[in-house]
Amino acid sequence: MNSANDNEGKAVPCPICKKAATLDYRPFCSKRCADLDLGRWLGGTYAIPAAPSDDPDEEEEQPRPRPRLISLEGEDE
Ligand SMILES: [Zn+2]
Repeated sequence: MNSANDNEGKAVPCPICKKAATLDYRPFCSKRCADLDLGRWLGGTYAIPAAPSDDPDEEEEQPRPRPRLISLEGEDE
């Protein structure tokens, strides 16, 4: 019996983990994989390849500002 093949006739594998997708989270197999995929979009994994990171000369022309993580949450003296 192939009961995993009765969701609208077409079983699409989860693009994240390649498991069988579920109706609730198509085309993903679970909310976790759906969130993972969304996270990749937001996180920049699928970002548009427009950043000239291959140019070593760019590094010296663009000084990076120092991240001030501490001052964001510890402002009270
Ligand atoms: Zn999955």
